[in-house]
Amino acid sequence: EKGKALMLNPHTNKGMAFTLKERQILGLQGLLPPKIETQDIQAMRFQRNLRKMSDPLQKYIYLMGIQERNEKLFYRVLMEDIDALMPIVYTPTVGLACTQYGHIFRRPKGLFISIMDQGHIHSVLDNWPETNVKAVVVTDGERILGLGDLGVYGMGIPVGKLCLYTACAGIRPERCLPVCIDVGTDNETLLRDPFYMGLYQRRDRSQRYDDLIDEFMEAVVDKYGQDTLIQFEDFGNHNAFRFLKKYREKYCTFNDDIQGTAAVALAGLLATRRVVGKPITEHRVLFLGAGEAALGIANLIVMAMMEEGMSQADARKKIWMFDKYGLLEQGRHQSTDSNQEAFVHPSPGEVKSFLDAVNVIKPTAIIGVAGAGRLFTHDVIKAMGCLNERPIIFALSNPTAKAECTAEDAYSLTQGRCLFASGSPFGPVTLEDGSILIPGQGNNAYIFPVVSHSLTICIRVYISTHIFWNYAQTNQLTDEELSQGRLYPPLSKIREVSLQMAVKVVEYLYAKGMAFRYPEPLDKDAYVRSKVWNTNYESFLPEIYDWPGVSHSPL
Ligand code: NAP
Ligand code: MN
Repeated sequence: EKGKALMLNPHTNKGMAFTLKERQILGLQGLLPPKIETQDIQAMRFQRNLRKMSDPLQKYIYLMGIQERNEKLFYRVLMEDIDALMPIVYTPTVGLACTQYGHIFRRPKGLFISIMDQGHIHSVLDNWPETNVKAVVVTDGERILGLGDLGVYGMGIPVGKLCLYTACAGIRPERCLPVCIDVGTDNETLLRDPFYMGLYQRRDRSQRYDDLIDEFMEAVVDKYGQDTLIQFEDFGNHNAFRFLKKYREKYCTFNDDIQGTAAVALAGLLATRRVVGKPITEHRVLFLGAGEAALGIANLIVMAMMEEGMSQADARKKIWMFDKYGLLEQGRHQSTDSNQEAFVHPSPGEVKSFLDAVNVIKPTAIIGVAGAGRLFTHDVIKAMGCLNERPIIFALSNPTAKAECTAEDAYSLTQGRCLFASGSPFGPVTLEDGSILIPGQGNNAYIFPVVSHSLTICIRVYISTHIFWNYAQTNQLTDEELSQGRLYPPLSKIREVSLQMAVKVVEYLYAKGMAFRYPEPLDKDAYVRSKVWNTNYESFLPEIYDWPGVSHSPL
């Protein structure tokens, strides 16, 4: 590529940072203002403009615009201020962006595969300009965050997740492929929205849908290799569990909502031991919600308890779930599905509300993953504060408006005693006595970039639940951060923390004989870091050198 095309390609564009020689050799002279600019100045320009904006959606549009024009600059800006910008490219703002997708649309991102493409997915994949894809994030848009069915507007989620793959774990952007599968939507508002961008039809729930996903999986590994990581994201509950079961032994795949969430929640729970001193086996956990996230977390807690010597049956008895219809207990009218059965227990006494459940079960921890808003009421939080010296309260539903309670309520109603984490960010809370607590963001952003980085560099197919248990052990929280109220390291450190976690997991995979890349790298830290992409501009000039002393005349 030369000339204008080089500038229009976000992978190669460096704006005014093209050097004088590059401009002359590559046919760019005159197409740019005369100044040769550093990336530092470019980054400063964008950071200033971002700071002037107050509307998060406006920031989202602006940032996505940088990504479309100059990828290295986009990641530099994102990484330098990840604390402030992660809530823009990811939860909560990405949720708002998804609901408005058709209205704020500029340029398409990611690959759209519709059910009308059935039989032709391979040729659709052939249109994707990158050939060396290593990680795919795919959604069908049915359960976007806690916002429900957003159809193809859900594309914002795989796009946002993959931004974090690169920003947090250093995966090369061209190795990442965001995919949205369109089989229709059951969202009435979107079906009447003139700006909607998918098929105007109800969701296909027939065999055709399953065949389409089968074809998609085969086409991906056929094109990019069997070791391509395929992350399922924000599928509806029923399909999420089915596909995980169906594909996990055949493909290198995981479901982030079930497994990634599980690892991050368990990591937070394990961190509380450093404050409360209680081993995991002594906890009683009550979930609000009994879906993908709840069951994923519950099963991983059971595994952690079993690792501490408890039987599976006893571990399961320590976990209770409360869904839309009430407590999961034997003999209730509403049915439970096979994934939930392990957590359906004999009735503990009369439970009509979640508050009743708290009072009857006396949990040490409540975990909210219902996506249904502020259901950890003041009474629930106060009850947890009466039952426990250090109650554990995780409000993990996204985006912010769906969180089960605010950080402020959790801390103030327990006089600062609770150990709190939320899926979407909340700011620090100042208590009456003037002390400041910093809530942790219990978000799988601490996990999925690490999963992709560690697994794409050394594993081949099956991703076991044990691997997620292992991720949960690698929480890099320091004692000082813990004393601030955090259960996870600050987001500003997420890149370094993610790399350290990846090193630990890669060590584990080799120790267990689960890694395939040989010879085994001796220095795992150096190995992981050698795979990290950076945002420095590359030179486009060929290497020019002399052959000193060589004569080109016959001797
Ligand atoms: P899901 O599979 O659809 O599960 C939702 C569960 O909540 C279902 O059991 C549902 O019951 C129940 N529920 C719905 N309304 C309720 C209510 N009013 N009271 C009690 N229970 C209710 O969804 P999911 O994948 O588990 O996700 C749930 C939430 O977790 C979402 O907001 C999502 O953003 C969040 N999440 C957070 C993270 C993170 O990293 N922090 C990761 C993944 C998910 P029915 O089945 O009876 O409707
Ligand atoms: Mn998700």
